[in-house]
Amino acid sequence: VTGFDGQNIGVLGLGRSGLATARALRAGGAVPVCWDDNPAAREAAEGEGFACRDLSRPDALDDIARLVVSPGIPHLYPRPNPVIALAYDAGVPVDNDIGLFFRSLASGAWDDFDTPPRVIAVTGSNGKSTTSALIHHLLLAAGRSAQLAGNIGRGVLDIDPPDDGGVVVLELSSYQTDLARALTPDVAVFTNFSPDHLDRHAGLGGYFAAKRRLFAEGGPDRAVIGVDEPEGQYLAGQLSEGAADDRVIRVSSARKLSGPGWQVFARKGFLSEWRKGKQVASIDLRDVAGLPGAHNHQNACAAYAAVRVLGIAPRVIETAFHSFAGLPHRSQLVAEAHGVRYVNDSKATNVDSAAKALMAFPKIRWICGGLEKEGGLDPLLEAAGSVIKAYVIGREAAAFAVKLRGIEAEVCTDMATAVAHAVAEAEAGDTVLLAPAAASFDQYDSFERRGEDFTARVKAALDQG
Ligand code: ADP
Repeated sequence: VTGFDGQNIGVLGLGRSGLATARALRAGGAVPVCWDDNPAAREAAEGEGFACRDLSRPDALDDIARLVVSPGIPHLYPRPNPVIALAYDAGVPVDNDIGLFFRSLASGAWDDFDTPPRVIAVTGSNGKSTTSALIHHLLLAAGRSAQLAGNIGRGVLDIDPPDDGGVVVLELSSYQTDLARALTPDVAVFTNFSPDHLDRHAGLGGYFAAKRRLFAEGGPDRAVIGVDEPEGQYLAGQLSEGAADDRVIRVSSARKLSGPGWQVFARKGFLSEWRKGKQVASIDLRDVAGLPGAHNHQNACAAYAAVRVLGIAPRVIETAFHSFAGLPHRSQLVAEAHGVRYVNDSKATNVDSAAKALMAFPKIRWICGGLEKEGGLDPLLEAAGSVIKAYVIGREAAAFAVKLRGIEAEVCTDMATAVAHAVAEAEAGDTVLLAPAAASFDQYDSFERRGEDFTARVKAALDQG
């Protein structure tokens, strides 16, 4: 990171990305001044020779030129972290690692390349990780040099120096897009939109505003936008000069798109690309094992469009789809026995992603529940046509079960009971699906631990049986 030579830069939050930020600042000649409320995190930073200072003390920011904040720290809602509040009050610019990254690109960090590296940034409510990982996979399969960073993979300031013509694929959460002071990817992808994280964005409007910052004036050269919700349609309209403009590639997993522009959509299991009113390519997605269900076909369309912008051929993409293994904890097939499939979708932490999982499989024994999010469960009930029975976990399992009106629901509370009962009752042709529609923090440290617990218990139960 250049442009801060000799200046003191506050680094708040010393997890992986915070430490990478401090290192990058130091490498560029700045002086990181670090803080984290957790003493162990401070120790790790001090171990690398970084100075720590309690930035929440009065006057602690007097000599600080900029405050760089980790994504987990609230910057506005429900209320700003005290250090950030102090920075706002003192007029110290607040930024994050993503902002520093784009700022250093704008000031010429990659100017010496023959073919400057390109940045593809992915945001949206669901499917960001899958789409980012798939874009990365497609690029590698096409023989391009590519790295995955941001919310997935490495911190963006932790990446290797890119190769000539290389690509950096960045997954960006709404917190990251909300804080970054510069956001100028070459290609920006908006997967879809549904309510999530409303507590940290003061409601739906704030959450959408955070995401759309990636598409502001002077933003991406090309935008790939999921237009299955009004928010995506609005964005696509704002970015294009008219229907024939191919700066925007419209993506749908629900319907055939038409018009003189550029479109990629999935229908009845087939992906189609159309440009200037003509079909360019068609790909059968029905037997692509790593991307089951209409929601993954949406991810496939978005990733396809993003790499088409970089000139990758449809046939190369088609072959590469088949070697995509999928990501753990997202519609992940973890076991199959006696004709029963066991699927770990622990990452379905909100109602929309769980509803998509429920629509992707027939005959479901559904393990759900946990820390409920705002907004109610009604969309789940509409998607639950193929649910045979729900096995409800979580500290508030009884209250959760009551809301599953019209679905047979057993209050299991813990994963052990839920898995044992589902395994015992499942018949050939059933899918036992963990898709909680809730956060994990009432019982687990993370959705990963929850998914691992499910997987381990399924395997143990099958071994015994
Ligand atoms: P994110 O990074 O946006 O959270 P992931 O790819 O990790 O997205 O997927 C999160 C959850 O949403 C998983 O349960 C996954 O199965 C589901 N999902 C994946 N893609 C989509 C999509 N396009 N629409 C809705 N849900 C999706």
